[in-house]
Amino acid sequence: MSAKIRRFLVRRQPETPCLVVDLDVVRQNYEALNKALPLATIYYAMKANPAAEILRLLVALGSSFDTASIYEIEQVLAAGAPAERISFGNTIKKQVDIARAFSCGVRLYAFDSEAELDKLAAVAPGSRVFCRIVMSGEGADWPIGRKFGCEVDMARDLLVRAAGLGLDPYGVSFHIGSQQRDLGQWDIAIGKTAMLFSALNDAGITLKMVNLGGGFPARYKTEAPSAERHARAIMNAVTRHFGNDMPNLLVEPGRFMVGDAGIIQSEVVLVSRKGYDDDVRWVYLDIGKFGGLIETMDEAIKYRVRTQRDAGPKSQVIIAGPTCDEADVLYKRAAYELPVDLKAGDKVEFLAAGAYTSTYCSVGFNGLPPLKTYCI
Ligand SMILES: *Cc1c(COP(=O)(O)O)cnc(C)c1O
Repeated sequence: MSAKIRRFLVRRQPETPCLVVDLDVVRQNYEALNKALPLATIYYAMKANPAAEILRLLVALGSSFDTASIYEIEQVLAAGAPAERISFGNTIKKQVDIARAFSCGVRLYAFDSEAELDKLAAVAPGSRVFCRIVMSGEGADWPIGRKFGCEVDMARDLLVRAAGLGLDPYGVSFHIGSQQRDLGQWDIAIGKTAMLFSALNDAGITLKMVNLGGGFPARYKTEAPSAERHARAIMNAVTRHFGNDMPNLLVEPGRFMVGDAGIIQSEVVLVSRKGYDDDVRWVYLDIGKFGGLIETMDEAIKYRVRTQRDAGPKSQVIIAGPTCDEADVLYKRAAYELPVDLKAGDKVEFLAAGAYTSTYCSVGFNGLPPLKTYCI
């Protein structure tokens, strides 16, 4: 946790649960990725954390933006992003929303099917379009599997069709899976992409852009390769498969940009046992799956957890949220250990919780208010 966040928590004593984001860390992350991948344009995947302060900072730094809905497009335009720096990257869009995005000036769109291409041709004529290919999501803590993308042979036909429909077949995209730990996935994805480039070349169409998607890490309990190592794996694969014919590169970091920049502070509501012989305690917090920690689903993302009593002895716990839903258990299998003297009122902090938390909060389940975010 940054000293700035520590100071904020001590001085302000904000009500819990809350998310505190250090904007300096967002800036450092943006600059670090720019340095590691100087040839790639950064499109921040704003769904990871669309707080206005974060968007304004990234606009000022020169970032572009990957958006998933007309609402996100309006949000980032309001934060000052020019339409030329916005990609409508969702492959599932209503035609009216494409029309609205087009009238806002957005000219870059994703697709992965014939029906979507027809919508784009109808209401976003002449736009740059890129076809998403499907990846397995293998090796990722939060896979983005077969829901998005199509197979390479279909992508080839669709890109040819795009040209016929008066669109600009601009390139190819993929997402190797979020919080990806297997660097070998880059070579697989970029290899498939290069095959597509040459298949299109044979059809008389020159693609220009590879959208590498996300997958860059935040620091959770389980180690993942650094963004620098990801960048090296990308550049090695691009060089191997494209040689001197380097395409325009785009990256869409979400988790990496904001994950490590934020911490969630919560409070212990209750520590209890279910029977006299149980040695595993239940620790109930004032935040759970419905308060923003939905990525603990299947214990996929294992946050680093800190308390004010960490110096003392610890023992195994089950960590759960406060709501009246059985699903609202964060960690049972993962065998987290917390201090034996932990008690109601103690603060528990989730580190690297700046991504995919504040907007994943439910709307008033059990009366829970939205997760309050402070950007400092
Ligand atoms: C969610 C998403 C991203 C961001 O992925 P991270 O792994 O969080 O960096 C990038 N691109 C697209 C299309 C996405 O849907």
